[in-house]
Amino acid sequence: MDFYEEMGISKKVQTFGIEIEQSLKERFGTFDEIAEYNQLKVINAMQEERVSDVHFAATSGYGYNDLGRDTLERVYARIFHTEDALVRPQIVCGTHALALALSSNLFPGDELLSVSGKPYDTLEEVIGIRDSVGSLKEYGVSYSQVDLLPDGGFDLEGIKKAVNSNTKMVTIQRSKGYQTRKTLSPYDIGDVIRFIKEIRSDILVMVDNCYGEFVQKHEPSDFGADMVVGSLIKNPGGGLAPIGGYIAGTKACIERAAYRLTAPGLGKEVGATLGITQSLFQGLFMAPTVVNSALKGAVFAANLYEALGFTVVPDGREPRHDIIQAIEFGTPEGVIAFCKGIQAAAPVDSYVTPEPWAMPGYDSDVIMAAGAFVQGSSIELSADGPIKPPYAVYFQGGLTWYHAKLGILMSLQKLVDAGIVKL
Ligand SMILES: *Cc1c(COP(=O)(O)O)cnc(C)c1O
Repeated sequence: MDFYEEMGISKKVQTFGIEIEQSLKERFGTFDEIAEYNQLKVINAMQEERVSDVHFAATSGYGYNDLGRDTLERVYARIFHTEDALVRPQIVCGTHALALALSSNLFPGDELLSVSGKPYDTLEEVIGIRDSVGSLKEYGVSYSQVDLLPDGGFDLEGIKKAVNSNTKMVTIQRSKGYQTRKTLSPYDIGDVIRFIKEIRSDILVMVDNCYGEFVQKHEPSDFGADMVVGSLIKNPGGGLAPIGGYIAGTKACIERAAYRLTAPGLGKEVGATLGITQSLFQGLFMAPTVVNSALKGAVFAANLYEALGFTVVPDGREPRHDIIQAIEFGTPEGVIAFCKGIQAAAPVDSYVTPEPWAMPGYDSDVIMAAGAFVQGSSIELSADGPIKPPYAVYFQGGLTWYHAKLGILMSLQKLVDAGIVKL
């Protein structure tokens, strides 16, 4: 049976997709090599920590002596090559993990310096860039920022000038998030960490690692970051983690984060896992191949839509440092048709039609497509587009390459059906 045809994808769209896919063999080979390396890295860490089925048992109440939780944290520390890690369902999302890492390691009078420009939207309220109850600013932590240079690199001169005697921590965001700048590679991040530590070796460096995990063979913590931070419903949860966030870093930073997450004196000793530890282990085990699928989807979409004349960021040939793909359609209709295609290809809620809507925190209507097993999970195939110029969609994820491919072909079909694209 021809399921593509059955699911409404015309021969023309299929043939166009096959041509693009054929041209990407070498590129996919590079991703496969990285996934193989990271798969072994993860298995090796699990073996070294003697992961066993006793570690999957549920704990409740205080969660004292939760062997699974403690072992999972040591596995994370091994993978990220850090002294310690905090990996918890009580860290509810990426923003929470970042807020925790910042608020536990910054004190009144300290300054936080961002060297990668404006941070992710949700951090504006954490830091106090936008006034907010409970922000770092409210607690007397000041903030300054050095933007990236027009070519996307770090502004070393600007950084040198911005560091002062109050500078306690530098924050670096690896992924472009939903901006149009380039994503930073762990290697470039390593160079700037060295530069910062030469200015003053006691400055802490935190990297927002969201969407970057397992995209390369190395992580920013391999190059001197004191903390790397992310969400378990993105890359490292492998689509199976139902909740959670992580911080991997130095013993001192993790200890402070743990005392802030629970309470001084309690720290890492408490925090029941209620039976989800197996999903966190298994998701981590799957993560390298899941990220591989998402990367293939991103590069497939970039090349397919570039060939049709649309602007795509990153472009079809650029090296990848995260899993986000932006495509500029130039019209609201293009954004809407694309998102309808992603939704129609989902395993969950495929019959739902997404519509643009006013969303809290956004200054325009936004259309979102997601048919996810875990609410809001953006390692699963998902897309969103603010209905404003340049009418771009940001899309990411795909637990399997074949699902990502179906989603992208379906999006093209919807654009063809709407008369926006002619093949
Ligand atoms: C997703 C993301 C966050 C925030 O994570 P949430 O889980 O949505 O709170 C922070 N920074 C970057 C770069 C992200 O991509």
